[in-house]
Amino acid sequence: MNQVILLTGGNLGNRLSNLQKAKELIESSVGNITLESPVVASEAWGFESENVFLNQILCINTSLTPYQLLSAIQKIEVSLGRVRKMKRWISRLIDIDILFFNNELIESKNLTIPHQHIQDRRFTLFALNTIVPDFVHPKFQLPISTLLDNCKDQSKVEVYYA
Ligand code: ATP
Ligand code: CA
Ligand code: CA
Repeated sequence: MNQVILLTGGNLGNRLSNLQKAKELIESSVGNITLESPVVASEAWGFESENVFLNQILCINTSLTPYQLLSAIQKIEVSLGRVRKMKRWISRLIDIDILFFNNELIESKNLTIPHQHIQDRRFTLFALNTIVPDFVHPKFQLPISTLLDNCKDQSKVEVYYA
């Protein structure tokens, strides 16, 4: 079994319901959710939007390979109404990112693992820190709690729903 940490999020539509539906589809097509963070609220990162993001971290056991997992989460995004745009960092109904896949390091055109912005985003580190503060980032060899302490992003993040 592979141990995977996913980040789900969105800032459009019924955000809590979209996160809930994403969880259900992940359970049915990816694998067991073993741990989940509270839902955290934060301002849009990297672009301007009035719509606050809700995000959640999910720890999963899966037998899928990294590329099978990428394809599975993209199917879930589409089935929840996400329209794929060429542009990154825009408002969306649902986004599912692979943060970690075991302790693997992958850098290919379509997949970077660990996700390349974990250390830059307070909302991601804050949510991770609530459930896996001691997990060591396999590239930086530092625990999540230290990455959060070192994070320069000062955006406001708060627990929205626990
Ligand atoms: P960001 O990746 O900075 O959070 P985003 O989530 O808005 O931005 P998307 O438009 O959802 O970006 O995805 C763009 C592409 O990123 C996907 O088509 C996918 O191939 C690629 N990608 C690379 N690494 C990952 C990863 N770890 N998890 C999910 N997608 C990834
Ligand atoms: Ca993302
Ligand atoms: Ca994404």
